[in-house]
Amino acid sequence: MKKVAVVKCAGYEDIKTRVKEAIELIGGFEPKGMVVIKPNAGSPLTPKRAANTHHAVVSAVVELTRDYASEVIVVESEAIAAPADVCLKKSGIEEAVLKSGGELRILDNDPKVNVKIDGKRLKEIKLPKTIVECDTLIDIPKLKTNSFTLLSLGIKNLMGLLDRTDRKKIHRTDISQALVDTLKVIKPDLTIVDGVCAMEGQGPVFGDVIELGLLIAGRDIVATDAVSSYVSGFFPEEIDTTRIAAWEGIGTCDLERIEIVGSKIEDVKKVFRRPLSTIEAVFPNVDAYVGCVCRGCYDPLMVTFDGLRLRGKLKKMGRVTVIMGKDAPIPDSFGDKTFIVGDCAKKHKDSGVFIKGCPPLDELFKVNFDKV
Ligand code: SF4
Repeated sequence: MKKVAVVKCAGYEDIKTRVKEAIELIGGFEPKGMVVIKPNAGSPLTPKRAANTHHAVVSAVVELTRDYASEVIVVESEAIAAPADVCLKKSGIEEAVLKSGGELRILDNDPKVNVKIDGKRLKEIKLPKTIVECDTLIDIPKLKTNSFTLLSLGIKNLMGLLDRTDRKKIHRTDISQALVDTLKVIKPDLTIVDGVCAMEGQGPVFGDVIELGLLIAGRDIVATDAVSSYVSGFFPEEIDTTRIAAWEGIGTCDLERIEIVGSKIEDVKKVFRRPLSTIEAVFPNVDAYVGCVCRGCYDPLMVTFDGLRLRGKLKKMGRVTVIMGKDAPIPDSFGDKTFIVGDCAKKHKDSGVFIKGCPPLDELFKVNFDKV
C-alpha cells in the first residue's frame, strides 16, 4: 500500500508544523546529500493569486531538510511568460529561500547532460547537471487547474526541470506522455502538494483562488497526484499524466491500493470549477476560427486572453478575430483586431497580425495584444 497524507491547514502561518505532520504521517522522510526542491514558480504573480507554490511552503521544506543535507537547492526554469528570476522574486520564493538558508538555482544556466530514456515519446532529453547529480529530489507543486491538462500537480510540475528546447518540443499534444517518460529518469523522493490556497477555473495562471486548506504528501508521486485529484473533485483517470503513469506501472492511482492517512477525502473534498479548454464562445468579443489545431497554439493563447480579460484589457480591444490551425475557416469580415496564430495558419498571415512559430510560445508573449 502506498501512503498519502492529507493534512488540514487553514493558512500558511503554521505551515512548517503541518508539513512536518504530513511527513510523519507517511512514516518519516530523511533527505540526504544534495537536496533539490522544485516548487511551482512559473508565474510572475504574487502569492495571493495562488498560481505558484506558496513561499511559506518552500521555506518550510528548506528548513525541515537543511539539517540532513549537505546542501539544499531550490530550482526553477524560465517560464513561458517570464524569466525564472522574475517569477521567483514576485512569488516571494527568492526571499523565503535565502532567509531559510537554502540556495536558489536557475536551471537554464546549468550545464546540460544528455540522458537516454526508454520512453514512448522521448528517447533522450537534456537534463540540468544539478538534477542528474542530486541525491534527493522533493517536488512541491501547487494544486491548480490547467486548461491544458485539467489539473497541474506533481508530475506536471516536473516540466520545469526540462531544457527549454525539450519543453517546446513537447508543448503540443504529447506533453502528458512525455512527462511520464521523463519520470523514468527523474524520480522525486517526496511530493508535497500545496493545496492550502489552490486555484480553480481558468488555470494555470489566471484562475480563481479556492481555499482548499490542505497539504497532500507522499513518496509515490502518482498516488499523491491521484489523491490531490480526488480532494479537488476530479477522478485521477481524468488527468492524463496520472492515468498514463499508472498505466505504465510507475505508481498507482487506485484508491484501493492507497492508504490515506490524516483527513478522510469525503470530509475535506471541494469540487473545483473546471477550466474551459477551447477558445470558441469563451470571450464575448473574440471570434475564433479554428482549423486542425493542437494544444501548442491553443493553450498559450487561452492564458494570454485570460490575462487580458483579468486586467480589463480584452473588452477594450473591440471585436477580436483569431485564426489558427491548419485549414482554418476564414470569416467573411474581420474584427477590429485580427491575429493569425501559429505556422499552421501561415497562409492567412496577411489578414492580420501574424504570430509565427510552432508552437508560437516566444512570439506570442512578445505581442502587445491590446496595443497593435
Ligand atoms: S502551429 Fe500548428 S502544429 Fe504548431 S503548435 Fe500551432 S497548431 Fe500545433
